[in-house]
Amino acid sequence: MREGRRVKAALKMGRLVNIKTLASFDFSFQPSLDRNRILALAQLDFIDRNEAIHFLGQPGCGKTHLGLALAVEAVKAGRSVYFATLADLIGSLAKAEREGTLRERIRFLCRPQLLVVDEIGYLPVIPGGGNLFFQLVNARYERGAMILTSNRGFGEWDQVFGDSVVAAALLDRLFHHAVVVRIEGASYRLRRHAELLPDAAAP
Ligand code: ADP
Ligand code: MG
Repeated sequence: MREGRRVKAALKMGRLVNIKTLASFDFSFQPSLDRNRILALAQLDFIDRNEAIHFLGQPGCGKTHLGLALAVEAVKAGRSVYFATLADLIGSLAKAEREGTLRERIRFLCRPQLLVVDEIGYLPVIPGGGNLFFQLVNARYERGAMILTSNRGFGEWDQVFGDSVVAAALLDRLFHHAVVVRIEGASYRLRRHAELLPDAAAP
């Protein structure tokens, strides 16, 4: 997905072509994942509590799928949701900063009750990007819920954000009221090619 999307509008307009739901998630493929825990999250109390949900795991294990599926549940329940990759989110914040509209952009991104930040750790964050993301996270802190997906451990956030002070400040805010869901299993994308994978990555 190239740009952040207000999920409700996107759903209405059929623009989320790759829409994912809990119904289409095969829990039997990820036995390490507690199905009841995910179904409890789908009750959306975490939104009322302004919590941060972290989905962690290797590429292809279903992090984006679950993030989108919970976003869809939230929209169905009448909540406002915004979905973006970290790279696009930071790109939009950097653009706003250049144009002198950073405060407005942060205010805009504080409005949705749920903000989904996908793909933390895949791409290097641009210089100053960690600081911009921190300003957003800080503004939403205890005021709005977030879902974050990452293929990197929290110990690697220094590298992801290129700044240990910013990484520590981010983790501080994003862990205070947090739920961490680790998906230990292998890639669903590669499920038919298990024999090609190294043993450690095979299902
Ligand atoms: P990640 O974000 O962890 O890299 P995705 O959520 O994008 O992985 O999953 C990769 C692809 O596999 C997507 O098309 C997703 O819908 C599908 N997928 C992943 N896990 C499952 C699963 N357990 N059941 C059904 N589809 C899955
Ligand atoms: Mg993903």
